[in-house]
Amino acid sequence: MNMLRKEELASRREQYEVEMFREEGWVRRKCAKCGKYFWTIDPDRNDCGEPPCAEYSFIGNPPIRKMDWNEVREKFLSFFERRGHERVSRYPVVARWRDDVLFTGASIMCFQPWVTSGEVDPPANPLVISQPCVRFPDLDNVGKTGRHFTMFEMMAHHAFNNVYFKDETVRLGFEWLKSIGVKEDDIVFKEDWWEGGGNAGPDHEVIVRGLELATLVHMAYEGPVNGRYLEMKNKVVDTGYGLNRHVWISKGSPTGYDAMFPKLLKYLRAESGLDFPSDLISEYTKVAGKYDLSGGRSNRTKVIEEVSLRLDMDPKEVEMEVTPQEMVYAISDHTRAIIFMLGDGVVPSNAREGYLARLLIRRSIRLLKSLGIEDLLIEIISKRISEVKDPFPEMLDMEDEIIEMISHEQKKYYATIKKGREIVKRLYSKKGKITREDLEKLYDSHGLLPEEVMEFTGKKIDVPEDFLSKIAEKHSSSSREGQEQTRSKKVDLDVKKYPKTELLYYTDPYLKEVNALVIDVLPSENEGSVLILDRTIFYPEGGGQEADTGKINGRKVKHVEKVGGVVLHLVEGKFSPGEVVKCQLDWERRIQLMRHHTATHILLGALRRKFGKHIWQAGAHKSENYARLDVTHYLPLNKDEIREIEDSCNRVIMENREVRTTWMERNEAERKYGFVLYQGGAVPGRKIRVVEIEDWDIEACGGTHVHRTGEVGFFKISRVDRIQDGVIRIEFKVGPKAVDYIRELEDTIEEAVSLLNTKKEDLIQALSKKISDLKDTKKKYAKLMSEINDLLLEEIRDKKITTKDGINIFYGLIHAENDKEMLDLAELLLKELDDGLVILGARIGEKARVVSLSKGRAKSVFHAGEIVREICSKLSGGGGGSKEKGIGGGPKGHELPRVIEEYVLRICEGS
Ligand SMILES: [Zn+2]
Ligand SMILES: [Zn+2]
Repeated sequence: MNMLRKEELASRREQYEVEMFREEGWVRRKCAKCGKYFWTIDPDRNDCGEPPCAEYSFIGNPPIRKMDWNEVREKFLSFFERRGHERVSRYPVVARWRDDVLFTGASIMCFQPWVTSGEVDPPANPLVISQPCVRFPDLDNVGKTGRHFTMFEMMAHHAFNNVYFKDETVRLGFEWLKSIGVKEDDIVFKEDWWEGGGNAGPDHEVIVRGLELATLVHMAYEGPVNGRYLEMKNKVVDTGYGLNRHVWISKGSPTGYDAMFPKLLKYLRAESGLDFPSDLISEYTKVAGKYDLSGGRSNRTKVIEEVSLRLDMDPKEVEMEVTPQEMVYAISDHTRAIIFMLGDGVVPSNAREGYLARLLIRRSIRLLKSLGIEDLLIEIISKRISEVKDPFPEMLDMEDEIIEMISHEQKKYYATIKKGREIVKRLYSKKGKITREDLEKLYDSHGLLPEEVMEFTGKKIDVPEDFLSKIAEKHSSSSREGQEQTRSKKVDLDVKKYPKTELLYYTDPYLKEVNALVIDVLPSENEGSVLILDRTIFYPEGGGQEADTGKINGRKVKHVEKVGGVVLHLVEGKFSPGEVVKCQLDWERRIQLMRHHTATHILLGALRRKFGKHIWQAGAHKSENYARLDVTHYLPLNKDEIREIEDSCNRVIMENREVRTTWMERNEAERKYGFVLYQGGAVPGRKIRVVEIEDWDIEACGGTHVHRTGEVGFFKISRVDRIQDGVIRIEFKVGPKAVDYIRELEDTIEEAVSLLNTKKEDLIQALSKKISDLKDTKKKYAKLMSEINDLLLEEIRDKKITTKDGINIFYGLIHAENDKEMLDLAELLLKELDDGLVILGARIGEKARVVSLSKGRAKSVFHAGEIVREICSKLSGGGGGSKEKGIGGGPKGHELPRVIEEYVLRICEGS
């Protein structure tokens, strides 16, 4: 293996010199300003042409003919189709096939990790795609730089396994640009080095008039590992052509947003009464292009200063003109990103994808509010959907769901604001300032954006320029929980030396008994042995389905799990390798697990039909007694909806539909069924197991299922909870377990009927009467108690003791239900005394409670807390308190009268 260091690769001419450069006389130059190498056909060029080395020179002066976004996409795709590439449909913006990222941030991410690692064939090779991508790291720049978008389309041609590489890639990129009219000497290929996700390689940045239109990555190495790289056997061409930027350069508009969304921007400006200072914005974009605006507040200030110098304007005036334009730009970007996120199945919530969708929705509402047009949100969303419906008809299908979710979010937002005002005011008056941590906390816990916080405090707060991207980042890295994956906790175990276990529970899930050969016996941490067999009927824990139990040679199987392709059986007793053993399933348990698992799929199908495509599985568990399914949904379910879902599940069960299980090539399955397959999370491997309930539900799933839905039996939901904002948990039971559940309910009712000594049909009436009787009784009891207490208080007053020091003591027993009632009565008595002490006891059940109060001179003689502590210690309990007030208790309630009496007499004698 020849491991190379970066110095031996990244800056080498041969890494970047391609056939076209040699044949057509391109020259390699070193940029006079940034020192980076680039390739040009123009021998007089001295700089790389990319800001900050040079400025955008296409604004107001486009080098090619005007094109809109649909035209650019179609031209690109058909250009590469004509050159042997197969057109591939876009992937969702939510990366459902991966468990390491939330969103599709680049076209290559569609093919990671299975295609790039060589395990799965690409869907086509070479291929061309235009992939909508969502990214959050530049969130704070969006609207301000003219070129940053949260959502953009990345057009790309990809080639895997060496079908072509650098020479062809650069030539294709060059020919594409020429085909849309870009002149040769406007093009610069700048050298750079790319690394990510365990791969690396040289790349050419394609710059035209200062704008990076494409990046051509030549993925040639694995690494770095300890700073070194290994050449890949199957090299990958990873390109990315920004569709938005192509549209922008073709129009030469002041910003990329003006090029992409002219109609919407016109509408937003008209509604908010804004003029469009296009010359100022053009200048602003050119200057902003030279600075990275996320680098801190000073950069925006610098941009404004430079623009005001150039245009001879007051910086304040520049800022006043620019700020509302930045807002309409951000709105135009965010609203489109929201449509793609929600349209691809994200439900706004406070976790993962949902968190980021909510952030964009809240920010859009806030920006609209600042412009005084917040009522327009829904109308803007509708407009945007009809704009994208031509190339993306699926967004139109989702229109009702998208609008409903956003309306719901809007309501929540206003509720948040209402509560937030007080929270912010309290925090501000307590601390006198608001820090960055406060701002983050106010957003994370209360949904309040910095603009709101400023409004509520009435003070200008220094908001970090990377505030939004930082909070987005915190929520971007969290991975999706793989609910249906088979992942072992014991991955460190080396199972590679064993043959893969033959999985008979897949071949025939109805197999209850089989003989198998013991391949090896591993020592177990607990009692018993861990068996590796040549074949097994025991399903290992995975995909939310619990492991099977049963017997091997009559000994109990306690747990089963799978590591790699090997199934491990934890069994009681001793075994030896080479032995043939008899395996028997606990069939009652297994068939019930199968029923519950198939029912989970039936339920998911019912929910998606009833509520829409935003319903995605967020978790699932199948045990013998019950199963539960968590799904994304923005509202709680009402009783009618729950019953409707039950009915539709029972109908599908009674229709006895077929449940088909097939192993399919990943590509074929994705093409045939779409990414809805990955309901249970990402699944590994070249081939995936597809479980299909005829015309109802299709999922990639590794569980065991019944053959026909009829075998599931009666379906009953037992509980529905909202486990978090945007996620609903449904617990249910099927077959015999559902019947048991109904019987339990029946038993409860029967018991209530017999306790109330009534008939079933009169139960509610009898219960209501009991409740109202009880209320009456309670009232009467309270009255009686207060009468008794009056008498007891009289008695206490009668036996008042006055010590030699002239301190008056009231003491005795009263009736009370709790300490508060006791303290109230003690208070009443204390008022009647000048320098007084009150000690009261009460029996609550078997136990004793004691309180004591003192005032005036009594405080210097007696300590109420100490008094209570001493009395209670004699009752085998404890207590304490201050000089003025003591509370305590003990278990020996029956001794209370004697103990108090003796204690008081003793302190009187002592004083
Ligand atoms: Zn340069
Ligand atoms: Zn499943």
